[in-house]
Amino acid sequence: MAEPLFDKIAFIGIGLIGSSLARAVRRDGLARRTVACARRRSTLDKVVELGIVDEVTADCAEAVRDADLVMISTPLSAYAALAEAMAPALAAGAIVSDVGSVKQAVIRDLGPYMPDGVHLVPGHPVAGTEHSGPEAGFAELFQDRWCILTPPPGTDAAAVERVAQLWRAVGMNVEFMDAQHHDKVLAITSHLPHLIAYTIVGTATDLEGSQQAEVIKFSAGGFRDFTRIAASDPVMWRDVFLNNREAVLEMLQRFTEDLTALQRAIRWGEGEKLQDLFTRTRAIRRGIIDARQA
Ligand code: NAP
Repeated sequence: MAEPLFDKIAFIGIGLIGSSLARAVRRDGLARRTVACARRRSTLDKVVELGIVDEVTADCAEAVRDADLVMISTPLSAYAALAEAMAPALAAGAIVSDVGSVKQAVIRDLGPYMPDGVHLVPGHPVAGTEHSGPEAGFAELFQDRWCILTPPPGTDAAAVERVAQLWRAVGMNVEFMDAQHHDKVLAITSHLPHLIAYTIVGTATDLEGSQQAEVIKFSAGGFRDFTRIAASDPVMWRDVFLNNREAVLEMLQRFTEDLTALQRAIRWGEGEKLQDLFTRTRAIRRGIIDARQA
């Protein structure tokens, strides 16, 4: 086994993403020591039972003491208060990173609390499922997926490289991006699809009695695939939309225009327009399969 990349990693939040990383770190010996912090006793007990870290605590300041890497993996709305609470205990030279699905808001919320000599390296492993909690994690989650790092200009290059090394070690390809660009790209590839899924499942839920029962019965016709996405964690997704408002609204505007054009094509029986679009979209799916991201 190779030399560990870190002496002590503190996982602040240990749900689907945090626990998947903790499992991979343990599997590959990437840290000498690991500690996990969560709010609820039941979560900490579950983590102990799973045996995926060395220690657990409900006190984030205690967790980050002596850590050379702090990995925040909580919903975005918890970041600012956590940063304020942990800041006095951060070791000189420590790296603070995260896995949040939005990046400008993370820099806004964490940046002001970072003491001099502590390196902030925000990141986003673009991998996940609709499940939550430490029991939902698995070490292979990151294999062959992309991790986007968005260090603010002037961030220590060695710190950035260490975080990149960690994600590569657990199987990810790493790309660097400006936080604003990240938020735009993810608005269309992830945030809007979730919004559409939440909407369509919500529309079906509001149908009356017998119609609603039929939605469940005949869901294999397409609806089912939306319900998987719409089963994603409500708090996490509330936070994503509140924290990536502008980019999501911009993409939603474009989407609404395209939807109106489709509506028009259906109304006027413009089959060729519909077929053209459906042919183009099929090619996108093939591209995803070829890129091994299916
Ligand atoms: P999750 O499974 O719901 O886990 C969240 C964890 O954060 C839990 O351990 C929870 O502990 C802890 N937590 C919540 N509030 C806290 C607080 N105030 N102080 C300390 N711990 C707190 O969530 P997840 O799916 O792993 O998502 C975590 C982050 O990853 C989010 O920011 C999300 O945007 C990002 N992300 C998610 C996915 C995905 O597909 N799920 C993919 C990429 C990135 P308790 O159980 O004690 O509340």
